[in-house]
Amino acid sequence: MKTSLHERTLVLIKPDGVQRGLIGEILTRFEKKGLKIIAMRMAWPDSGLAQKHYDMPESDKILLGERTIASYKEKGVDLKKKPVEIAENVQKRLVKYLTTGPVVAMVIEGAHAIQNVRKIRGATNPLAADVGTITADYTIDSYFLSDPDERAIRNLVHASGSVEEANREIDLWFKTDEINDYELAIEKILYSREWEGARKELTQK
Ligand code: GDP
Ligand code: MG
Repeated sequence: MKTSLHERTLVLIKPDGVQRGLIGEILTRFEKKGLKIIAMRMAWPDSGLAQKHYDMPESDKILLGERTIASYKEKGVDLKKKPVEIAENVQKRLVKYLTTGPVVAMVIEGAHAIQNVRKIRGATNPLAADVGTITADYTIDSYFLSDPDERAIRNLVHASGSVEEANREIDLWFKTDEINDYELAIEKILYSREWEGARKELTQK
């Protein structure tokens, strides 16, 4: 099966990324990979937009809540709350974080864009992230620090986790006419079969 070269994902450089002067560094990593930025805008989200961004179905709330309960249990803490209640608490923290300052929102396109961007971003928890990823290389936060402070983990970048999430988030942040459908010259080198074999041999007289 042929993979789509036009998979799209939504990326946010969160307020800590902007404040840390890391917009350029972060963009460079995506660009150097061969991914294409097809929309980009700076915005200071209000709580309505942030709430919509972090809105999730009940089933995802339960998963997030259960995961949080399990990670607290490892630390010997019994949260004594229902998963949904915990997830809604996490959401409140996320909204507070995202509305703290301007963010840079973008749509990134390319082969396996969702998976590639997530790999470059690294694990959600910077302490658990592999060296070479954005969360490992540029920030130092962990759930050990953020949870007792009842704040969101500061991980510089958001990236959609699935095709469904990407479609929903792109619609939320960008109008159709803000997204640019264009070709980069390097795409020929990244993806095209025809690029090889271009050398014309000199004919000997
Ligand atoms: P991401 O897509 O990798 O950023 O993570 P998720 O979509 O799973 O979760 C969104 C955000 O919720 C993360 O960036 C974290 O700030 C927060 N979060 C996710 N899982 C946990 C958790 O187990 N504990 C806590 N405290 N926060 C979490
Ligand atoms: Mg996510």
